[in-house]
Amino acid sequence: MSDLRELYQEVILDHGRRPRNHRVPEGCNCTAEGHNPLCGDRIGVRLRCEHDRIEDAGFEGSGCAICMAAASTLTEAVKGRTKEEFFALLESFLDMIVHGIPEASQKLPAKLGVFKGVAEFPMRVKCATLAWHTAAAALQGKPTASTEETDHGGSGTGG
Ligand code: ZN
Repeated sequence: MSDLRELYQEVILDHGRRPRNHRVPEGCNCTAEGHNPLCGDRIGVRLRCEHDRIEDAGFEGSGCAICMAAASTLTEAVKGRTKEEFFALLESFLDMIVHGIPEASQKLPAKLGVFKGVAEFPMRVKCATLAWHTAAAALQGKPTASTEETDHGGSGTGG
């Protein structure tokens, strides 16, 4: 299905070129910074949370097209969801891309499923997951997220 693959790339390119929600939501009260040293992507996720629900979502910063597209689609996908729903999406997203489980895309909105193909490009995986790790950090009250931690599970002290 090479046509489908082209469509997926089109969606990613569109969001990469014209990111949605590239802004700070009014009343933003939940933020974290994310850095992907491998690629140089740097973004900040900005959320407004009320009663365990993500009422509004935006992001700042810049990165490659995959990173921007991932952040853009994330902000659209998580708005209005509870934290619990967010972490369920995060798990499926990581299953799909990091662990290469294509079926995980069925648990995701279509606009997130388009990142399935990224699993074939290990160098790009961290670009696609940066926004997700950063949003998770924000919801967990952590100030920063680094894609490096996904490999080791430990906490780095570098800076
Ligand atoms: Zn990148």
